[in-house]
Amino acid sequence: MTERAPLKLGPDGAGEEGAVTLRFIGAAQTTTGSLHRLRTEEGDLILDCGLYQGHREEAEAWNRQLPVRADRVRAVVLSHAHVDHCGSLPLLVKRGFRGPIWTTPATADLLPIMLFDSAHLQAGDIERVNRKLPANQQKTPLYTEEDVEATMRLVRTARYGEHFEPMKRVEGRFVDAGHILGSSAVHLTVGTRDGRKTTVGFTGDLGRTDVPLLRDPEPLGDVDWYLSESTYGDREHEDESGVEKHLRDVVVSTVARGGKLLIPAFAVGRTQLLVYLLHQLRYRHEIPDVPIYVDSPMARKATDVFRNHKDLYDGDARQFLSCCGPLFDAARTSYVEDRTESQALNRVEGPAIIISSSGMLEGGRMVHHGMHHGGDPRNTLLFVGYQAEHTLGRRLLDGAKEYRAFGEEHILRAKIEEISGLSAHADRRGLLAYVKKLDRPPQRTFLVHGEPEKIDALKGYLAASGLTGVTGPAPGDWFKLL
Ligand SMILES: [Zn+2]
Ligand SMILES: [Zn+2]
Repeated sequence: MTERAPLKLGPDGAGEEGAVTLRFIGAAQTTTGSLHRLRTEEGDLILDCGLYQGHREEAEAWNRQLPVRADRVRAVVLSHAHVDHCGSLPLLVKRGFRGPIWTTPATADLLPIMLFDSAHLQAGDIERVNRKLPANQQKTPLYTEEDVEATMRLVRTARYGEHFEPMKRVEGRFVDAGHILGSSAVHLTVGTRDGRKTTVGFTGDLGRTDVPLLRDPEPLGDVDWYLSESTYGDREHEDESGVEKHLRDVVVSTVARGGKLLIPAFAVGRTQLLVYLLHQLRYRHEIPDVPIYVDSPMARKATDVFRNHKDLYDGDARQFLSCCGPLFDAARTSYVEDRTESQALNRVEGPAIIISSSGMLEGGRMVHHGMHHGGDPRNTLLFVGYQAEHTLGRRLLDGAKEYRAFGEEHILRAKIEEISGLSAHADRRGLLAYVKKLDRPPQRTFLVHGEPEKIDALKGYLAASGLTGVTGPAPGDWFKLL
């Protein structure tokens, strides 16, 4: 593995009078903490303001630093509601930012769910840390719920295709990135006082074509400077047409054993996709009619946002909605709110499907369900998302049969299954296809949001296809655009 670039910014030389510059601050040579700064004569605009998620002390130091001058930032343009793209916004506001935060209506609806959850998690973390610290060394969270409320007051929305003016001499436009509900790729036209102009395109996180529920990524148009994500720059996904069949087989075999199917899933996006897929399978009588429990207050809130943005569904989902019933509310599907109801699921008799977070079994209600039902060989634990190193999800997936949770030893006898075809990110073919859809090859392509080895691999792949001027900027690197 290539050594990861240190979380340190190089010197900021981007201060030249009359110049337009782009500086890569976060998600440069890494996949987290998305933040890019466009400096113009009228002040700074930042693309995304994400939280760095990773090794504890390193993440904490980086996030507290938030290396942008809040007083110089005139506007934020936000690609989507994942915390690695929006999770530092409340800190920016706490430091004095009062400009507009432009995003799509669906992202604006998902944003408070994500940010309040982030503030809540931080409060819990800080409390645990402070218990071990003397009174004079107590830490404070990065931000609180009040900062989130102040952040939400600054949000402004534009629909896909609509033009907006985030700040003087900058015009913006969102197109659907097909990554999560409301996700966008961003097109900016930037001008100078003497009438020069240039264009910037930013993929945000790019989704895949032909995935259920979401629409395909839409082309960005004409772009001089292009920022592309590179999460899976080195690989080609498995064909996801096998996903439905795999899901069907897992449900059918678990129910045939009289067991319960436990699915740890991220509350926003992945959970709704699963419920929709299960409803389709049930509608076609491909799986038995067993109860489905979505046990997560965050998933319930996020599902409301999905219900309110039907116009963003793909053609198949809209057709299913008109002919065959609601996507997320079919009979025998319940959304479990409070803790007592969640605990009551331990007493449910017979086969059932329980979807709950966290997706990697790092805390959350699913760990309780896993402890309760994991010892029964009739049951199945089905992983549907990426399992990071050092998480309980990864250890179980790698074959661990004994694990410790909440101070007790447990033995896993439930069957383990994995569906790997559900990624929300384009693979290298998708990333290449998207740059090829630009009106003309960009002057320069900057690869961001990827580990160094993925960026190197993607650079080679794009070069082989004839694209020139591809670079993977390091944190702090800046380029003169105009
Ligand atoms: Zn994302
Ligand atoms: Zn991301």
